[in-house]
Amino acid sequence: MAAIGFIGLGNMGGPMARNLAKAGHAVKGFDLVPAALEAARAAGIDTVANAEAAAAGVEAVFTMLPAGPHVRAVYLGAEGQGGLLAAAEAGTLFLDCSTIDVDSARAVHSAAEAAGHLMVDAPVSGGVAGAEAASLTLMVGGSAEAFARAEPLLKAVGKRAIHAGGPGNGQVAKVCNNMMLGICMLATAEAFTLGETLGLEPKTLFDIASSASGMNWAMLNHHPLPGIVESAAANRDYKPGFAAAMMHKDLKLSQAAAASAGVATPLGAEAAQLYTLFVNAGNGGLDYSAIVKLVAGKS
Ligand code: NAD
Repeated sequence: MAAIGFIGLGNMGGPMARNLAKAGHAVKGFDLVPAALEAARAAGIDTVANAEAAAAGVEAVFTMLPAGPHVRAVYLGAEGQGGLLAAAEAGTLFLDCSTIDVDSARAVHSAAEAAGHLMVDAPVSGGVAGAEAASLTLMVGGSAEAFARAEPLLKAVGKRAIHAGGPGNGQVAKVCNNMMLGICMLATAEAFTLGETLGLEPKTLFDIASSASGMNWAMLNHHPLPGIVESAAANRDYKPGFAAAMMHKDLKLSQAAAASAGVATPLGAEAAQLYTLFVNAGNGGLDYSAIVKLVAGKS
């Protein structure tokens, strides 16, 4: 069993740190928010006074932070002073499970390597319920050596860890997957709005499309209209599930990646715009399938 630092004990990081402790690891946690530290202590996790203290004298350090700038600041320190990479002993394994932009992930990987550490980016899919049940899917970028060391630890917080290739490729997989999901949800919302307006019962269209070429995962699992797919958020007043604000974040990351790589993703760009409109109208806390309200002109 390993000594592990864990920084970012929020909605996702809190339960992930608890699952590492449950698996028998000695976890030292840190968060900026006192309530998150208190909850961690109540769950039997040692807490420390700052991020650097969580990285000292441990074999591995997890981070679960909001976005790229937070990850850069915590790893590299403010104005090049401090930071996790400087505080850790050489050869420490870093696992960043945050969802962040590809460029920041690759920059932090390079700095970790230059400081003599191993690193993986390992963004997750599965939400808070998956974090609590240790059933997350993790998309992992990093060297074969880093993945081999990371995999047993990732298995304590998730059910599946897939090696996606070199540094940053976990983030690439996450934004490409979620860009497809956003586009498929919008396509489903448009098709069902058109069909219903033209007099076709949504349930009938669902039965036909489920065994025809329009079938897609968003339609089958997260259908945007109520009364069709039992587990869908549409049946619970669009209580998430996967919040529209999270989809919006991931679509913006896909567009940052596309711009940085010089790749045209016009449907991804349109999806990002539509979720921006929807979230800015105050709907960020609804499930992402509620975008059907915007499509149908009911938002
Ligand atoms: P959260 O806001 O609940 O948690 C983030 C935590 O990081 C907060 O407790 C915050 O205080 C802490 N933090 C920020 N800066 C810090 C610093 N400098 N030092 C220490 N702690 C700091 O967010 P979350 O929902 O747990 O999401 C975390 C990451 O996981 C995000 O990148 C998000 O996109 C991703 N994600 C979330 C979900 C979800 O359903 N919530 C699903 C998949 C991926």
